[in-house]
Order: sequence, then C-alpha cells, then structure tokens
Amino acid sequence: MAASTERPFARWDVVVVGGGTAGFVAAIAAARAGAHTLLVERYQTLGGMMTGGLVAGLNTMRIHQGRRTTNPYSATSYQTEQVIRGIAQEVVDRLIDMGGACGPRGESSTLMIFDVEALKYLISEMLDEAGVEVWLDSLMTDVVTDKAMLEAIVVYNKSGRHLVEADAFIDATGDADVAVAAGAPYEIGRPGDGRTMPASLEFIVGGVDLYKTFDHLRKNPEDLDSGAVDAYEQRHRAGQPIIGLRNFKQSLKKAVEAGDFPVAPDAKNPIPLCGIHSCIRNGRVVPDETRHTLDAVYNLDLSNASDLSEGILRSRRQVMAAVRFFQKYIPGFENAYLLQTADQLGIRETRRIVGEHILTAEEILNGAKFPDRIARGGRALNVHSEDGGTLAEGHGGQKWLEIRGGQAYDVPYRCLLPKNVEGLLVVGRCVSVDHMGLGSMRGEPLCMATGQAAGVAAALASKLKLSPRQVDISQIQQVLVEQNADLGSIPAAPPETSA
Ligand SMILES: Cc1cc2nc3c(=O)[nH]c(=O)nc-3n(C[C@H](O)[C@H](O)[C@H](O)COP(=O)(O)OP(=O)(O)OC[C@H]3O[C@@H](n4cnc5c(N)ncnc54)[C@H](O)[C@@H]3O)c2cc1C
Repeated sequence: MAASTERPFARWDVVVVGGGTAGFVAAIAAARAGAHTLLVERYQTLGGMMTGGLVAGLNTMRIHQGRRTTNPYSATSYQTEQVIRGIAQEVVDRLIDMGGACGPRGESSTLMIFDVEALKYLISEMLDEAGVEVWLDSLMTDVVTDKAMLEAIVVYNKSGRHLVEADAFIDATGDADVAVAAGAPYEIGRPGDGRTMPASLEFIVGGVDLYKTFDHLRKNPEDLDSGAVDAYEQRHRAGQPIIGLRNFKQSLKKAVEAGDFPVAPDAKNPIPLCGIHSCIRNGRVVPDETRHTLDAVYNLDLSNASDLSEGILRSRRQVMAAVRFFQKYIPGFENAYLLQTADQLGIRETRRIVGEHILTAEEILNGAKFPDRIARGGRALNVHSEDGGTLAEGHGGQKWLEIRGGQAYDVPYRCLLPKNVEGLLVVGRCVSVDHMGLGSMRGEPLCMATGQAAGVAAALASKLKLSPRQVDISQIQQVLVEQNADLGSIPAAPPETSA
C-alpha cells in the first residue's frame, strides 16, 4: 500500500515489531551486534506471553526425555543436555540474581519458573543497557513495500501515525502481522480443518492450602494426571517450584454433571486442563499462591479481531467458573480467591509463515540436523488438543511426543525467512513450522533463540547492505557463538555438485 503523509523520524538499521518473548531478545541481539535498533510494542508491558500472558515458566532449554516414565514431570530437572543458552540463559541468571527465579546460575532446569514482575523490570534494563530505542503503546498497522522489498512500516501511537524505515525488519508479533501485511504466505491450524490449539487465560489464586490438596490427590488418584503426589508434596515442602499438578478429571466430571462447570464452547470434552503451578516472589515459592492454566477457547481464529474479542470474553467466564469449581470441589481451595488474571489471552497458535523451509514434526522427532542451524531445540511436541480431547484420554487429550533418541534438533535459518518478502525475518511462534512441529517450536526458550538469531542476522544485513536472505550463514553463526548461543557442532554443508 502507499502510506500517505507520514515523515520518518529517522532511518533505523533494524526495527523489531513486537516486544514479546522473541522480540525483546531480537532487539538486544541486534543492538549488541552494532545495529541502531528500534523496538515497537503495542502494549505498555514488554515480554508478551511471558509477562502479559502470565506464562511464567521457560519450557525448555534442555531436552525433554522421559516425562511420562522415569522422570515424573519435575520443575527442576537438570538431568538432560542443555541446548539453549545465549541471551535466554543470561535472562535466567539475572532473574536468579534478582530473586526472580530459583536455582544455580549458568544453567537452567527443564522448566524455569520465574517472577513476572522481576522479568518486566529486567527486560527494560537489558534493552536500555543495549541501547535499544523502545516505543511502547505503539501499534504496527501497515507496511510499505516496493515489489517484494519491505521498505517501511506504519506505526500508530499517541503522537500520531509514523512511517518507520529500516534496512531490516523483524516480525516478532506472534501473529506474523508484518509478514502477512507484506504479502508472505502463511498457514493456520491443523491440516484439513484449520483448527488450532486452544487458548488459555492464565490466572493466579491466593489463599490456597496445597497440603490439603495433596491429601485429596492421595485419596483420589484418578484426579492426578501427572507424576506422583508425594514428589509434588516434597518439592512444595522444600520451597521448590511445582508445575503441572493436574487435571482433577473426576472432580470436574462431578462438577459438570451437577451443572457447576460449563463445557467450553466447541470442545468435545467437559474436562479441560487445570494445571497448577507455583508462583515465585523474592527468590522463593509463595506457599499459598498458585498459577493456573485452563484450556478454554476452542475453534476461533485469534488473529481475527472479532474472534479474539469473543475468545477473551469466553475465557474470562471460564476462569471465574474454574475458581468457583476449585473453591467448591478441591480441598485446600475452600478459602481461595482470584488474585490476578493475565492482561493478555494466552494464545498458543495463530498464523505460521511459509518460509524457505517448513520445519516438520517428523524432522523434529528425528533430531534433524541442518548446516544453516541458528538454534537447537529439545522440547517435546506438546500439542494441546484442538477439540478438547476425549474423556478416555489423559492430559486433556494433549499430545506429548519426545524427540527420538533423546537428541536435539536444529532450527534452520530458512525457517525465519518468509517466502515472497525481502528485508524481513520472522521469529517466535509464527516461524515456518508445521502445525504439530509448533508444539515444540512455540516454547519460550526457542522463541528467544530464534529472536537472538534474527537480531544478529538483521544487524549483519544492515551492516553489509544485504537482504537477510543474502547474509552468509557462517557469519551469522559466528556472531551467535560470540553472543554465547549454543549451536553445538555445526554439520558441514554438503559439497556443491556441478551439473
Ligand atoms: C496458555 C499458554 C501456556 C504456555 N505455557 C508455556 C510454558 O509453560 N513454557 C513455555 O516455554 N512456553 C509456554 N507457552 C508458549 C509460549 O509462551 C509462547 O509460544 C511464546 O511466548 C510466544 O512468543 P512470541 O514472541 O512468539 O509471542 P509473544 O510473547 O506473544 O510476543 C508478541 C508481542 O508482539 C506484540 N504485538 C503483536 N502485534 C503487534 C503489532 N501489530 N504491533 C506492535 N506490537 C505487536 C504483542 O503485544 C507481544 O508483546 C504457553 C503458551 C500459552 C498460550
């Protein structure tokens, strides 16, 4: 489109759109690599799902192995290989220093729980230290292209509409807003009917006595869907975080039969996931506060404004119903109260761009290796049921498929390069991956790792006056390693063959 009257404030080397999980890391990486960098975020809080969405657990910087068998789902397993470091590890270390996370510095557990308020502050500090200019309350509304080249974006904020030009842009909006506006192809949901993973409005309750809940679970083992109750209790008693205590299947069934819990619209199963997680403040677990995940929003396209509004309203109803359910049916929650709901709906899946390579679930499960690796992943394919699962299924019908042989897979640079658009990289949950593969790629640490890679690539593109597609991958990998990213040993490129 031709954007009308705006004058650019300045020309930037790199502009990152979206200051969420992947975007803030991208901006820091770009600035550290020498680029004059602007970060544009539509809300007043940075961190996206990690802060505004209350998704306060990094899952995972290691390789998932044996969750369902030998290793009951534990928040502090340090057993398997760690495959993500770089800025993500720096964030963890600084959170530990601030009392915003628990554990030894220099490494990360399978699932690092953190304090959302500490992270909000830390992100602002890290951006400031890196010299990133930040525009908050600023919505990217449109793009300006010249054929395939993305020349500028249009940003709307309190001061009006602005034309923002840059050598290279990074789309970290989660929904691929920039890429799609610029003409990149995309996919949404599962093949066939396009249904996506459900959304969840995370919430925190106070006034909880978890020891009574553990007793209830011991007496009603069919209510506990993950791990052993004794292990959970020991951890809680020791002040260590617990995660995914769920899913109260029988109690929920009783509540649904009594008309005390509504089935989420468009879900087959009246039993959603009700995972309970610890909250950390001031370096320790808060014993009487719990954070909850409840799969509540099905079969809506959350990149569509009216569906999104419907989803937010639906989830608020479900959260209130869940709190009442806990108060009435789950011992330990009799005096519990709703302390906080997330500012943003927890959206697992909207658009995924079609890039130069679409990473598939099979490649992930086989631990595929690529010479243009920019990150490594070890997270299982964790695909929440698009339909709500069936009563016979555990974990609310959620799929959990670990990588075969307990190895990592590579994320190729090509997954960040949208087809048909130059001057743009895409990061976070809207990268080029198939529906099932997103179950792994959507994890926060991998979103941060793609963000770091794109930040470095965009800075190099600007410096060398190239489109990101033309930057030599070995240069990107070298700077990433200098920035402490863990790329393992990079497989050699196959020799070029002459025809
Ligand atoms: C309920 C739920 C539970 C989850 N549990 C876990 C978990 O336990 N551990 C884990 O590791 N992962 C978990 N995930 C996955 C993970 O949180 C997300 O996939 C990841 O945070 C997405 O990162 P992102 O950077 O792509 O998007 P986001 O973090 O959502 O960031 C996108 C940013 O872009 C901004 N933005 C969007 N559009 C515009 C625009 N047009 N202009 C300007 N700014 C814009 C947004 O405001 C936001 O700040 C969960 C996800 C959900 C929904």
